[in-house]
Amino acid sequence: MQLKLASSYGFCFGVKRAITLAESYTNSATMGPLIHNQDEITRLKTDYNIGLYSKLEDVKNDDTVIIRTHGIPKNDLKQLKQKDAKIINATCPFVTTPQQIVKKMSEKKYSLVIFGDESHPEVKAVKSYGDDVHVVLEPSQLEIANFKYDKIATVAQTTKKKEKYLEIVNFLILKYKEVRVFNTICDATFENQAAARELSKEVDVMIVIGGKDSSNTKQLHNICSENCTDSFLIENYKELQNSWFNNKKLCGITAGASTPDWIIQEIVNKIKKL
Ligand code: SF4
Repeated sequence: MQLKLASSYGFCFGVKRAITLAESYTNSATMGPLIHNQDEITRLKTDYNIGLYSKLEDVKNDDTVIIRTHGIPKNDLKQLKQKDAKIINATCPFVTTPQQIVKKMSEKKYSLVIFGDESHPEVKAVKSYGDDVHVVLEPSQLEIANFKYDKIATVAQTTKKKEKYLEIVNFLILKYKEVRVFNTICDATFENQAAARELSKEVDVMIVIGGKDSSNTKQLHNICSENCTDSFLIENYKELQNSWFNNKKLCGITAGASTPDWIIQEIVNKIKKL
């Protein structure tokens, strides 16, 4: 089996930064999973004794708490500060930007539209900084939106597709006099996507590595599936199935922005042995 890696894949700047930061705080805990990758979270626990809190109530007064890459809602941050915990902020700076935009534009009396997934931690955090905030995935959802102000500002979840964001923006511009558009989509994701798109056109089978609840990994898988029907999303080498490689010559590999190199290497080694 011949293997080819995408020209850009894996850990992005924000995730590398969060992990390096976390590794310098042994015996701490993260507020929510630091990144969307269970294996890496297990490694941090085993090698650095970095625990995981899912509820604020569990945080004790003298704890060192690391804020996840996706950020946390404004009120959660306030409560953490009240608990006197030592706070290490590992929020990706590209995620902090939409939080600040939402805060600033709300203060200026703009209604906010976030193009993103309402249940995603990043979006929940960004939304918490605003006053009148509407989260949508489709332009049609805006038809029934009841805006508090007549001026609209928009931001996007960092991992979303630019083409779809334009559809949302087009809809708003046709309907409202003032629309301020902030392009908060992250280029790291875009570079991995462009490389995955190219590679998936030339291979017989495509392996996408990353957390199954990671939005950018799912996006990579969708893109690859458009060009290569035999595209599979896996979290680690144990999920590889021999049958995927029957009568295939060239296998492409890409990985989501929160996938560590050691996981990719284990998968490469396993495929080479098939
Ligand atoms: S994908 Fe972009 S926004 Fe998300 S953590 Fe990485 S660098 Fe930050």
